[in-house]
Amino acid sequence: MKKIGLLGGMSWESSVEYERLINTEVRHRLGGVHSADLLIRSYDFAEIEALQTAGQWRDAGARLAADACRLQDAGAELIVLCTNTMHLVADQIEDAIDVPFLHLADTTAAAVIAAGLETVALLGTRFTMEKDFYRGRLQAHGLRVIVPEEPDLTVVHDVIYDELVQGRILDTSRARYVEIIDRLVERGAQGVIAGCTEIELLVTRDDVTIPYFPTTRLHALAAVEAALP
Ligand code: GLU
Repeated sequence: MKKIGLLGGMSWESSVEYERLINTEVRHRLGGVHSADLLIRSYDFAEIEALQTAGQWRDAGARLAADACRLQDAGAELIVLCTNTMHLVADQIEDAIDVPFLHLADTTAAAVIAAGLETVALLGTRFTMEKDFYRGRLQAHGLRVIVPEEPDLTVVHDVIYDELVQGRILDTSRARYVEIIDRLVERGAQGVIAGCTEIELLVTRDDVTIPYFPTTRLHALAAVEAALP
């Protein structure tokens, strides 16, 4: 089993899900008292969020790249970045390391394509929904991607930062997300990507009427797939 390096804490609310899902899957596959071989770098998210807000993406990327190198030097044979948003700096990380980097948009695209869908809605932070680094990568896989219009886009973003990364899971926000997903279905969405690692803490498959792609779960399972012989 390969040692997996996790760049997490963005936020820790979803990083603990990565750890739980990866360990659960390893136990399921190997049985007995097996668990995953993990190296974890967990950030103070306030520092990352400040860099995001200031638009200092290169500084954030340099930080993540340096820590990815440290994980590699400590023995990690695979790097997993536990957030969709910070894949904005994936190139900086990939350029800095020699071991494989498991890109979350590729994992997500593979799941959507395997489900036979062409048009998919993307929910996430404003950065993930508006910038090209994630949408473009999904589109490069041949997918048509739609995102909420305003004011829905701001609602989706604000719920992530004001509630989910702070551990607040509110029924009222779940209902608002479901309404927003319904409007995306009216615009042609055949499935919806929970393209922020905390969204699946709020909205589950049972809450939506179309195929649902929870990125934390998909990424964690892909990490185990890559780590096991
Ligand atoms: N974890 C979230 C994501 O998957 C948002 C927090 C962050 O900005 O990293 O995008």
